[in-house]
Amino acid sequence: MSKYQVVVIGSGPGGYIAAIRSAQLGMKVAIIEKYDVLGGTCTNVGCIPSKALLDSSEHYHNAAHTFEEHGIATTGLKFDFKKMVDRKNGVVKANNDGIAFLMKKNKIDTYYGLGSFVTKNKIAVTNSKGEKQEIEAEKVIIATGSKPTNLPFLKVDKKRVITSTEALTLTEVPKHLVIIGGGIIGVELGSVYLRLGSKVTVVEFLDKIVPSMDEDISKELLRVLRKQGMEFMLSTKVTGATVKGKEVTVTAEDKKGAAVELKGDYCLVAVGRVPYTEGLNLEAIGLQLDEKKRIPINDHFETSVAGVYAIGDVVRGAMLAHKAEEEGAMLAELIAGQKPHINYNLIPGVAYTWPEAASVGATEAELITKGVAYKSGKFPFRALGRARASGDLDGFVKVLASQETDEILGVHILGARAADLIIEGVVAMEYRASAEDVSRMSHPHPTYTEAFKEACLTATENRPLNM
Ligand code: FAD
Ligand code: NAD
Repeated sequence: MSKYQVVVIGSGPGGYIAAIRSAQLGMKVAIIEKYDVLGGTCTNVGCIPSKALLDSSEHYHNAAHTFEEHGIATTGLKFDFKKMVDRKNGVVKANNDGIAFLMKKNKIDTYYGLGSFVTKNKIAVTNSKGEKQEIEAEKVIIATGSKPTNLPFLKVDKKRVITSTEALTLTEVPKHLVIIGGGIIGVELGSVYLRLGSKVTVVEFLDKIVPSMDEDISKELLRVLRKQGMEFMLSTKVTGATVKGKEVTVTAEDKKGAAVELKGDYCLVAVGRVPYTEGLNLEAIGLQLDEKKRIPINDHFETSVAGVYAIGDVVRGAMLAHKAEEEGAMLAELIAGQKPHINYNLIPGVAYTWPEAASVGATEAELITKGVAYKSGKFPFRALGRARASGDLDGFVKVLASQETDEILGVHILGARAADLIIEGVVAMEYRASAEDVSRMSHPHPTYTEAFKEACLTATENRPLNM
């Protein structure tokens, strides 16, 4: 029987990074993946395919709606949806192959099959043909991720009532896509199909969209997406969805209790994700889940069973690929005897709409709840030369800083390339910069980054230069 110092179950961003970092630190490592491709949710049915379709649909949208103002004619413009989806599949495959290469390069043994505990040091791997083998492990890292959650009264048939997984592999553009849930998946996949010509209606239970983000971002993103044509029914509770032929009827109640009915050809259920532990046979090692089906861990990712660890979507915290990656690297270093650290307050969140939304640190509501005295500096992109040049005028940068010390406590951006801009906020906050520190740094002109400097100038002394 093969013996390893570390066996990782699950090859998503948490698992494969934990495996690579463990191997880099000199350990003998194996990784187990139940599908025949590596990369997990993120690579196969999450971050990567959704961004590939977001990029393709954005090119089409720009060609159809913004090229003209740049003097570019697009007579006879059309798109080939199959080619778009094929390209997306190619992007996914390149990432699958890249991860498989990294496993080889780092001398990590890869087992394809369902991993399940026999004992805490013995894992059975059963492949798709039903063949079973066992491997031994000194330490086991569970990185089995999450799956879409469902509403108890809804039947997801995966054909007309679908999850994000099916929404990434449709063979036609929906005529009317009804989306349940105005969270990150709702606005991202809603944007893909809106840009390709679908009517998109988002039904959201709360009175706002992207509820995890700062209130100002949530409001402005709602306004911008409405302007683009996305329809929203807020404070509306879905009560059912029935399929008849190619038609889905979604029933709901608005905040006054009045019945609402929507008819579409597809209904995407995007109401969150739930940790995935099926098939692990956790009973064999006496490991129990918490009330949210997560694997409970201590600050060092160790479960209640010594030598068995868990990271990523299957444990507490934000369900984000980069959070899972940080945990994978940190855990490998802990096992190797190092003393690494993650500042969870500095894990940024992004919605890849256009304009993009990105946040790090405290929201204004959180500072109010904690009773922290703060200052807020906001700078709109429409006052920026770079944004005028590209025509991306929507959005703003908002910097929240301590009233007392001027330390930056939160950065919230809605605007062109916010997903990349946010890292300036992360670096500033990691080094505990004040808003004045950033406002005194030279930012290249003309760039979108100048909005960050201007927001810092506004936060620190209310003296923006370009407004
Ligand atoms: P996963 O990526 O879920 O990987 C777990 C792996 O474990 C899977 O491959 C699974 O098959 C395998 N597995 C499970 N059980 C077993 C078993 N018993 N034996 C063997 N293998 C097993 N996050 C971002 O940060 N940015 C984004 O842009 C983004 N976009 C997303 C878009 C969509 C549509 C979705 C659904 C998610 C998105 N996410 C994004 C979230 C991100 O995908 C997850 O947070 C991330 O994949 C979690 O990583 P993980 O390693 O914990 O688990
Ligand atoms: P989410 O938690 O972001 O949003 C779910 C939304 O559904 C919420 O707004 C919630 O109020 C709403 N909702 C819940 N029950 C409802 C009901 N009965 N009727 C109407 N609305 C209801 O979850 P998601 O969008 O499904 O995404 C799942 C996870 O995947 C998230 O944790 C997210 O972090 C991750 N993800 C991240 C990215 C990214 O980083 N860009 C992209 C996609 C997904």
